[in-house]
Amino acid sequence: MNKNELYEKLNQLESAKDVITSEFGNVQKLIDELIEENIILKAQVKHYEELLSQNDDSITEPKESGQTSVELLQSLYEQGFHICNVSFGEHRRGGDCLFCEKFFEQLSGDDLNG
Ligand SMILES: [Zn+2]
Repeated sequence: MNKNELYEKLNQLESAKDVITSEFGNVQKLIDELIEENIILKAQVKHYEELLSQNDDSITEPKESGQTSVELLQSLYEQGFHICNVSFGEHRRGGDCLFCEKFFEQLSGDDLNG
């Protein structure tokens, strides 16, 4: 392998590295999106489970497993996501949302007035 061949090989490796770096970024972004989607789906499942159990009058015992749907939605909101039906699941990007806050008001109102 002479000098020119070596430099050519180096250039090839350099472009291969760029492709891998860019692909790596894409995969990382995809993972982030999937994690966000997973959080949202978990909250939705929990919410529907609660709605179902509310419809069943025979179930009076509180669930033993972890968070209620309200707690899940609260943690989702604290992690920076909308929980209102206007922009559910979208990132708030640091801003407050009147719809989300209204939603929480309604939730806590329901709790107080039974
Ligand atoms: Zn919102």
